[in-house]
Amino acid sequence: MLNIVLFGPPGAGKGTQANFLKESFNLKHISTGDVFRKNIKNQTPLGNLAQSYMDKGALVPDQVTIDMLSDEVSKNTSAEGFIFDGFPRNTVQADALESLLSKYDAQVDAMIALEVADEVLVKRLLKRGETSGRADDSSEEIVRNRIQIYYSETAILKSYYQEKQRYHGVDGVGAIDAITARLNAVVKAL
Ligand code: ADP
Repeated sequence: MLNIVLFGPPGAGKGTQANFLKESFNLKHISTGDVFRKNIKNQTPLGNLAQSYMDKGALVPDQVTIDMLSDEVSKNTSAEGFIFDGFPRNTVQADALESLLSKYDAQVDAMIALEVADEVLVKRLLKRGETSGRADDSSEEIVRNRIQIYYSETAILKSYYQEKQRYHGVDGVGAIDAITARLNAVVKAL
């Protein structure tokens, strides 16, 4: 199995790039944000619970997110590997992912991070909010809250994977296909 954590702040372009990566390397893409949004749309109990957190730009509680992720992985055990997008978002989730994958004799082989400056992120997210209909893209205050949570809880995962020598940073600014080429080069070299 080849398992990649696609990492970066909100608006870094993880979803866009995951769609290319999954095709090139035949991986299953799991976006926790997308799974939550699907549950919200279908008004499931999980969706109703997640929505109150997501609309504010806060994180959904860890155990809820971890259980959902485990469930998605267990539904796709025939996959050649996974791209995790939006997960893990803190060290509790990172530990949970290691222990989950170890059950399949697998591990996170690489964290690949899209590096983008904050002011670029705010602009991208507010622009996306004009058409996405996402409550969490709709105001600068909520967008800044998400970026702030990224720095206070999530960014530390860079050193978590650096210590395991599995961290790879990629410049996330430029043309979409140029960024795709940078990511492909990292994956090929793994
Ligand atoms: P973005 O990366 O642009 O913030 P996502 O679609 O990844 O967008 O996430 C949207 C929201 O979904 C987050 O702000 C959070 O509320 C919730 N969410 C997604 N992944 C997680 C996670 N791993 N842990 C907790 N909450 C999450």
